[in-house]
Amino acid sequence: MKSSIEAFVHEPRVAYFSMEIALRAEIPTYSGGLGMLAGDAMRTAADLDLPMVGVTLVSSAGYFRQEIVNGRQVERPEWWQPESWAQRLAAKTALTIDAREVWVGGWLYVVEGHMGGSIPVILLDTDLDENDPEDQSITHFLYGGDDAYRLKQELVLGIGGVRMLGALGFSVRKYHLNEGHAALLTLELLRRHARTPEAAGTGMDYDVPAVRQRCVFTTHTPVQAGHDQFSYELADRLLGGLIEPAQLRAFAGPDRLNMTQLALNLSAYVNGVTKRHSKVSQNLFPGYRVQAVTNGVHPWTWTCDSFRKLYDAHLPRWCHEPELLVRAESIPDDDVWQAHAAAKRALLERISALTGASLEAARPLLGFARRMTDYKRAGLLFSNLDRLAAIARASPFQIVLAGKAHPRDEGGKRLIERLHDWARQLEGKVPVVFLPDYAMDLGRLLVSGVDVWINTPQRPLEASGTSGMKAAFNGVPNLSVLDGWWLEGWIEGVTGWAVGGEAESDNARDAAFLYDKLEQSVLPLYYGDRARWIAVMKGAISRNAYFFNSHRMMRRYAVEAYLH
Ligand SMILES: *Cc1c(COP(=O)(O)O)cnc(C)c1O
Repeated sequence: MKSSIEAFVHEPRVAYFSMEIALRAEIPTYSGGLGMLAGDAMRTAADLDLPMVGVTLVSSAGYFRQEIVNGRQVERPEWWQPESWAQRLAAKTALTIDAREVWVGGWLYVVEGHMGGSIPVILLDTDLDENDPEDQSITHFLYGGDDAYRLKQELVLGIGGVRMLGALGFSVRKYHLNEGHAALLTLELLRRHARTPEAAGTGMDYDVPAVRQRCVFTTHTPVQAGHDQFSYELADRLLGGLIEPAQLRAFAGPDRLNMTQLALNLSAYVNGVTKRHSKVSQNLFPGYRVQAVTNGVHPWTWTCDSFRKLYDAHLPRWCHEPELLVRAESIPDDDVWQAHAAAKRALLERISALTGASLEAARPLLGFARRMTDYKRAGLLFSNLDRLAAIARASPFQIVLAGKAHPRDEGGKRLIERLHDWARQLEGKVPVVFLPDYAMDLGRLLVSGVDVWINTPQRPLEASGTSGMKAAFNGVPNLSVLDGWWLEGWIEGVTGWAVGGEAESDNARDAAFLYDKLEQSVLPLYYGDRARWIAVMKGAISRNAYFFNSHRMMRRYAVEAYLH
């Protein structure tokens, strides 16, 4: 095992920058899908032995731990001890933020692949004695604080990250910006590609093509308002002399410092995270070429024990070559059913331990776990409680929910309260449980232990979604709105079911579609035709999991983005 930084610096690497990376359940340096994707990218890079290095913040107070008190979300810091999992690096670097020198140290976490490869991930840390107490806290809370705090975090990630890689002796062949948070790294690259002093002030101060050639940008947000932006008043103050204000505006937009704009202007390769999302992004950003690399999830991480054993027995090497899952049809039905039953038992035990509720193994369990925010429409399933109860009278089912709302998203927090109200109103009719603190370990239990994975976002706001792909690895079919990855994964009645068509989202109509599909297709099949139900489970594996995995995703990034 490679354990020191020296073991990693001998060959040029692709540096993968992400504000959040989900490295393991015990390390709370992530909030949700973006971090999971980054973690899966690192895990696959280790499996495939790709020459990469990850860069993120240490986020020592985590995102937050969610408790539910009387139906209301309460947030607690989730301090973790980097020294338990990572080694402190001797190298340090500094940058100027708000006219103050801020020192940046770091930790080395090694991601180990299943074939002997490994990938270093650098966790940047400003909690150093040299720093002003205010600056020590920059790397404490993931997505915490106000705009100034966020911009400081992005300065540490982008500028501090590039300088730290240099201080450690890495030579970097490409910089992959996972979302706009890392876009400030381009300013450090511009500085390194400054032209002769005579060119200064002519608009030709930098060798822009050389910088663009080094940068790969993956955008994740399909709406303009979702993109990270800062006022120039704030940016000019915090950035100081890093770049001339006029130049910054030329790259990052005239009115506000727009991280997406900055990344687009300085990356030669840009992609969205599904085919649909890349089209939406192409329309948002006319004049830029936006490619599509559809997301995927890490095979081993998101497959439960019982299915890992099943695949090991029937499709050896599936972990390295998930394409082999295309042959899942050859696995005996009964083995698939038993593997699922084991996963369901594990989830029901956890549900009982967390909530005291005892759900029934023989009844279908519908799962919905998302970031609790408006566009994910967690409430859609509960739009008509009478109709839901009527469906359950004919074919009983149970529902498990989970999800965090960002601490400043009042709408999301209210939604959690309303979900608890609806659960109370459905008592005695439809068992509904809400599990607190949706995170990596609970995630795997959920996506493997439910019978159907539900997703009902408002189109076209789901750029990709990845939890449904995780479900597929565990033979769990999706029942989902046609948005994000499901547009590419959906084959009606074969891999799961669609909620509605591709028309504009309409809450009342979509809810009716959801109820109809449950009542007329999903529940009758579950209760009425075990063999055909198992065929759908296998369809999810053979036609979804074989493709929507991070091995395919990273092989594509390697060939189409990193090698150029
Ligand atoms: C996979 C995952 C996500 C992202 O899934 P979506 O489908 O985008 O909602 C978020 N949180 C956790 C804990 C996950 O495991």
